[in-house]
Amino acid sequence: MKVMLDAARLLTYQAAAMRDAMADGRGPSLQAFKQAAAIAKLYATESAVTATRIATQVFGGYGFMEEYPVTRFYRDAKVLEIGEGTSEVQRMLIARGLGLPVE
Ligand SMILES: Cc1cc2nc3c(=O)[nH]c(=O)nc-3n(C[C@H](O)[C@H](O)[C@H](O)COP(=O)(O)OP(=O)(O)OC[C@H]3O[C@@H](n4cnc5c(N)ncnc54)[C@H](O)[C@@H]3O)c2cc1C
Repeated sequence: MKVMLDAARLLTYQAAAMRDAMADGRGPSLQAFKQAAAIAKLYATESAVTATRIATQVFGGYGFMEEYPVTRFYRDAKVLEIGEGTSEVQRMLIARGLGLPVE
């Protein structure tokens, strides 16, 4: 979970740094930034779901009970894979950025 957190954070910072560089009139193309943002969004949100799924499992039966917040964290994380571009859409953007044929 720590590895996923660090990697997600670094991917997000990388995309943000690319956007900052664009605002300064230097640095990457819009296409490169879009791909970096899609990679960061995909990885961070799927990591959030994986991490909260593991956390729910660690709590055992209590992980399923509403008395503990971990079950809410799991459900709350899931919507991150859906809103602001679903995981499938992010994958399409990434594939397009790689020059692969995507409808
Ligand atoms: C809590 C919540 C808050 C929201 N807030 C906002 C908001 O503030 N503003 C806003 O604009 N929207 C908001 N939304 C809507 C959200 O952005 C959409 O639910 C999301 O974009 C998915 O669209 P959809 O629900 O129409 O699913 P659909 O587009 O019907 O997709 C259903 C499934 O099919 C997949 N899919 C669709 N097309 C393809 C394809 N071509 N290839 C492969 N897979 C595909 C999708 O990835 C998804 O898994 C919110 C949703 C939720 C749940």
